[in-house]
Amino acid sequence: MTVVVLGSANLDLVYEVERIPAPGETVLSRGFEAFPGGKGNNQAIATARAGADVRFIVALGRDAAGDRLADEARRAGITLQARRVDAPTGSAVIFVDQHAENSIVVNSGANAALVDPTMGELADIAAADLLVLQLETPIATVGAAVTAARAAATTVILNAAPSAAVPAELLRAVDVLVVNEHEAAELAGEPDGTGERSLLSVLTGHGCAVIVTLGSDGALVGVPGQDPVKVPAVKVDAKDTTGAGDTFVGAFAAALDRGTRSTDLASLVAATEFATAAAAIAVQRKGAVPSIPTLEEVERFRK
Ligand code: ATP
Repeated sequence: MTVVVLGSANLDLVYEVERIPAPGETVLSRGFEAFPGGKGNNQAIATARAGADVRFIVALGRDAAGDRLADEARRAGITLQARRVDAPTGSAVIFVDQHAENSIVVNSGANAALVDPTMGELADIAAADLLVLQLETPIATVGAAVTAARAAATTVILNAAPSAAVPAELLRAVDVLVVNEHEAAELAGEPDGTGERSLLSVLTGHGCAVIVTLGSDGALVGVPGQDPVKVPAVKVDAKDTTGAGDTFVGAFAAALDRGTRSTDLASLVAATEFATAAAAIAVQRKGAVPSIPTLEEVERFRK
């Protein structure tokens, strides 16, 4: 029972500032911290903490940031399948002002070099039970990984985030698509939104199961040809929702992996209930990776 996560890793450089600098302005930072980030990295950690055996395919630079991300992933119990490439490790510079508003610049760096999956990487995907992907790595790599998974009957979960165009044939090859409302609207070609149920019905039209996450409203789960099921969020006092989506996807993948890995509606709803509990714990804590709960914490929370 192995979950392969293929995706990005970034070092997030977070500067606390009184106000975000205007063009031409220099401001002094009140505090600085560097955290592991990137959707692939966060979801690999979330999947591992939720109890799954995880192998993470990623590209890192030959630099200190790459060493740090590799160490932290290993410490989370992940088997790292890292390519070290001649590009800087992905990074994000994040300014957070006194009102918690932020401005972010992302440098994809090594993540953009995760192209042409190797024979070894494709073999790992074929041997896995589940493959988890996002859209912070080149779309051609995502496509090649999905093709390998499909040929080997590995179940594919695509978190189509951040919002980007996804070819229809790729969506058809995915087993479970996880998107937030904004991503759902973009993918459905309805950028102004038309309500979560109609977006879900457009997306299940591609033949895949779809989960639309709705923040503090929970999530809507649907499979082609059946009425969708709403899973409410757990009511909590949210402090910081950073990483809620990544926690949700990782916990969902681990729950599906622990179950029958069937993508029928009942199995998806059960995995969504687990993921909703994990995300409810995460939003009560600060940060992305530090907020991701363990399996024991989720089980205690659900009692
Ligand atoms: P982000 O980009 O902030 O990581 P997202 O936009 O990808 O998140 P959301 O739909 O905001 O995803 O949140 C994912 C899941 O997290 C929700 O389906 C819900 O279960 C949980 N969640 C988010 N916000 C809250 C909240 N305020 N209270 C309880 N649960 C929440």
